[in-house]
Amino acid sequence: MAARGPEHRVAALTLATLLIAGGLMGTANLFVDGVLRDGAPRWVYGTAMALCMLAAMPLVIQRRAGRWQTFGLVLLGDLIYLVVVLSIEDPVRYATPLMLLFPAFVAAWFLGPAELAANMVVTTLICLIALWPSYDGPVGLVIQVGVSAGTLNAGALGIFVLRRRVERLLVATQTLSHLDPLTGLHNRRFLVEQAPRMWRQARRDGTRLAAMVLDLDHFKRLNDAHGHAAGDAVLQAVAVSLARTVRPADVLARTGGEEIVVLGMVSDPDEADHLAERLRAAVAGSRSENGHVVTASLGIALTRPADDEDSTAELWRLIDRADAAMYEAKQTGRDRVVALWAIRNRAVPVPDDVPVLNGPPAADVA
Ligand code: GH3
Ligand code: MG
Ligand code: MG
Repeated sequence: MAARGPEHRVAALTLATLLIAGGLMGTANLFVDGVLRDGAPRWVYGTAMALCMLAAMPLVIQRRAGRWQTFGLVLLGDLIYLVVVLSIEDPVRYATPLMLLFPAFVAAWFLGPAELAANMVVTTLICLIALWPSYDGPVGLVIQVGVSAGTLNAGALGIFVLRRRVERLLVATQTLSHLDPLTGLHNRRFLVEQAPRMWRQARRDGTRLAAMVLDLDHFKRLNDAHGHAAGDAVLQAVAVSLARTVRPADVLARTGGEEIVVLGMVSDPDEADHLAERLRAAVAGSRSENGHVVTASLGIALTRPADDEDSTAELWRLIDRADAAMYEAKQTGRDRVVALWAIRNRAVPVPDDVPVLNGPPAADVA
């Protein structure tokens, strides 16, 4: 199945349920007189029903189904219907082509256009075989095959289109749920979701992670003097400048009102310093459409991710430490960058008693 994640499980169990239910319902015919032809067809029919239920077992055990496995099951569904048609006395009465609705819908919901198209052809052929004995002339037969196969295929096509729309809608919703509506930057949720990946990659590459907390200076004054809309326009201009300045792999997220966090991999403290300085300059150089300008104070903290640590908890610890450095930047005049390691020996309150444990060694202090 094309779907990933939990959908795999749901899809596999849905398929298994359909197979078991179909097998059980079909088995009931074995106990009704006059439905099945006597002799070999009865055995073939019974075997087909058993096969139908057996096919559900791998799905129940594995709780997932690959694309080809699903396509195989769809064709098995078609084949079982064919066996039913050939094994019973009066197909039009006891084996309506509507039974093909199950494989058709499974193909439409879980498979790609090529498999769906293939199943539509198979559906049409099987309808022809199923209805053939019940009609004398070709006209009646063609009309009935057209109606049955047309209804089944049109229904499947409708489901397929619906699913594509739902998928597109989901992707759009997910994208939107990661973005901040005002600035178009990523949001806090995205930052948190990226933490495990960033931690994993930094561990694998043996590099450090840098968090930079950026807070606009005297932003309230700007709002008070020029209005909230002017403040919004400044935030947007700042966002554009920052987005142009960060490196492609950095995560740039607006975490609060006028607070922005950059999370990125760095090989040494100097690299973090340089990037933060470039971000500071980008803010100072940005200008809103009304010509308003603003500066920002930045704090940086580093960590070297260790095995088995909880990346989300560590992310917030790192951000808290960068926040403390940012607070120091505010205290010492704003429009500047302060690295946590540059203040660690001073009597500045830093959340976390051992801020430099994972940070750069004393020799790295600029
Ligand atoms: P400091 O230099 O100490 O950071 O001063 P400041 O005025 O920036 O700090 P403070 O935290 O007192 O004020 C932040 C202001 O940011 C308050 C709020 O009006 C403004 N703000 C927060 N979110 C938005 C927003 O989305 N749009 C606008 N226009 N203003 C916002
Ligand atoms: Mg603030
Ligand atoms: Mg501020």
